[in-house]
Amino acid sequence: MPAVLRVALPVPLPTLFDYLPPAAGGGIRPGSRVLVPFGRGKAVGVVVATGVEPAVGMGKLKRALRLLDEAPLLDAELMQTLAWAADYWLGAPGEAYANALPLALREAKPLPTLGEECWSLTIAGRSALDAGSRRGASRSLLAELATGPLGVAELDACLPGWRAAARRLLGAGLVERGERTVSNAIATRAAPPLSAEQQQAVDTVAGDLGRYQSFLLDGVTGSGKTEVYLALIERVLAQGRQALLLVPEIGLAPQTVRRLRERLGVTVEVIHSNLAEGERARAWLRARSGEAKVILGTRSAVFTPLPHAGLVIVDEEHDGAYKQQEGFRYHARDLAVVRARALGVPVLLGSGTPSLESLANVEAGRYRALHLRARPGAVRPPTVQIVDMRAQRLEHGLSPTLLAAVAETVARGEQALVFRNRRGYAPVLLCHACGWHADCPRCEHPLTLHAGRRALVCHHCDYHSRIPATCPACGATELKPQGQGTERLEEALAARFPDVPVLRIDRETTRRRDAFEQLLDKLRDEAKPAILVGTQMLAKGHDLPNLTLVAIAGVDEGLLSVDFRAGERLAQQLVQVAGRAGRAAKPGRVLLQTHHPDHPLLRQLLTQGYAAAAQNLLAERRQSALPPFAHQVLLRAEATQRVAVDGFLAEACAALPPDHGLQIAGPMPAPMPLRAGRQRGQLLLEAANRRELHAALHPWAAQLARLPGARKVRWSLDVDPIDL
Ligand code: ADP
Ligand code: ZN
Ligand code: ZN
Repeated sequence: MPAVLRVALPVPLPTLFDYLPPAAGGGIRPGSRVLVPFGRGKAVGVVVATGVEPAVGMGKLKRALRLLDEAPLLDAELMQTLAWAADYWLGAPGEAYANALPLALREAKPLPTLGEECWSLTIAGRSALDAGSRRGASRSLLAELATGPLGVAELDACLPGWRAAARRLLGAGLVERGERTVSNAIATRAAPPLSAEQQQAVDTVAGDLGRYQSFLLDGVTGSGKTEVYLALIERVLAQGRQALLLVPEIGLAPQTVRRLRERLGVTVEVIHSNLAEGERARAWLRARSGEAKVILGTRSAVFTPLPHAGLVIVDEEHDGAYKQQEGFRYHARDLAVVRARALGVPVLLGSGTPSLESLANVEAGRYRALHLRARPGAVRPPTVQIVDMRAQRLEHGLSPTLLAAVAETVARGEQALVFRNRRGYAPVLLCHACGWHADCPRCEHPLTLHAGRRALVCHHCDYHSRIPATCPACGATELKPQGQGTERLEEALAARFPDVPVLRIDRETTRRRDAFEQLLDKLRDEAKPAILVGTQMLAKGHDLPNLTLVAIAGVDEGLLSVDFRAGERLAQQLVQVAGRAGRAAKPGRVLLQTHHPDHPLLRQLLTQGYAAAAQNLLAERRQSALPPFAHQVLLRAEATQRVAVDGFLAEACAALPPDHGLQIAGPMPAPMPLRAGRQRGQLLLEAANRRELHAALHPWAAQLARLPGARKVRWSLDVDPIDL
């Protein structure tokens, strides 16, 4: 058999590429990188197989230029998982491999050394900390380093903006900079005695260490899930094994990193997309060498090599951020389960509001359910009240009931959160004389009014325009903002409560992550009244002990949406936001403003809670044969000309195998038929049986790129799409 290499190259094509081995090459193994000629240039690829029968004549094969790794960079398990993933998500195999490798390792350069830049306290620094002679960021940095030297990834995660403080302290001789290769933190905090429920969860999962089993840990925020993770990671470490902990976004990481480090006494590798590429590659390599024991990361960290794997944990498993929405459209939670099976280790999915997919997996007996029902420290669940907006005089969308509750809260010296999942001042700018409203010319969707930026902004394509002084249609001067965004609520609340700080927390006010952290730190530290206005950024697990009122200003868009996942999302969001109220000793209160106080989903959530509402939603999905009881693949296409989109989708439809037995919806316009000036369309394919769906679509997907219309559109396939 000729010694031909089959190579995955980072290109969006459904194929692998065959090459002759490099002139100086023997003993090449799958998982190693090679430099190959490609097109007019060169590319770094991953050897997927060796000794293959070439797909084209031997005479046509080019020779690979150079082997880049003596030993495979990707081990057999990762290679197997990646092949599975490319196959399952109908992705280009090369893109799957490219996703698994940090950018710095996709270049033809020697591997970086494993050492990480790290910072530690000097003796003078310890004295300065004890004497309390420093303030602000410098003090925070000294305090962080008191638990042991910290690598830059940990520092980035715990103290955004730490570098400026480090430079100051370095100049003063209070800290020093070095390089480390081994784990060297000190455990400084003991575990609390676990509750019976926590202990049972730990024992159950621990009973399956060393073999694959999926668990769903169902417990609201504050119920002690993280303590369960910590106890299990401790056991895994004691066996000399590695633990991977995935979180949906890095904003959740700082508190978690700190907790892991203080409790486990090991370095925590943090892997996320904001990390400098070199650091990310080093962290990945330390995991590969087995030196990194605890890896905390966002979506792409699911590809971290785990040669001594012991446990995989996915926190907030219901979160949509685990789904990659471009390029290789994998789902990190689902891939985590697949990896755990390949690695032969348990996987623990945690959430206070589990996805319907995971609940269905429990029902089918594939996952084992674990529950944390009591909140530790006897924290009472918040009381929830629906406020009927219909009969009330609203002030900028805020009812007298809501305003009174905010007033009572701040009068007690406590903090209130007013939640509205809409940025900007108002979602629509309307002419009262003729009904004209400002639309994005590239999306045909209303522009959001941003008063502070004095602009109309499209939230779909970022188109900006000035605010017209008069109506462009009729010339009237009465242009009125319709509806409320966080900016307007902030303004209304600041006017109403002039003596209380009003803080707005959304993507606009917190473009920089350190700004966000600083805002939150201020609220955590000071037991002073404050009013927070924010979007879902605030719904995530930030522990604000003095926050006792959560007022949800509006949810009606979610109730009226046609998206079949809207009910699930709304229920999750409401429960998560409500969970912000009353985390510490003080009881919490939740108000929910709506024009639909009798909506069955709201009623059920309120009277019976998330689990019951989720069961109901799941029953509806079963009845309508929707996911997770059916399986979907979505073909999307977009182009500047509608005819190109329609043409390609028609060709794709015609190319489906005969007797495919699938349900087909479309070709049809996408829910947003025009976006950023591009016409969009889609074709939805569905089957009750996943195997049938994949069997029919595999050969079809491979053909799509060769359809004559494919060159005139941008197209993509999305398996298990989460937004249609
Ligand atoms: P979750 O991850 O579910 O939000 P955490 O594990 O963060 O919950 O726990 C919430 C709070 O309760 C934390 O402050 C934690 O330290 C505390 N806690 C959790 N379990 C216990 C326990 N068994 N005893 C005392 N305090 C606990
Ligand atoms: Zn007008
Ligand atoms: Zn737009």
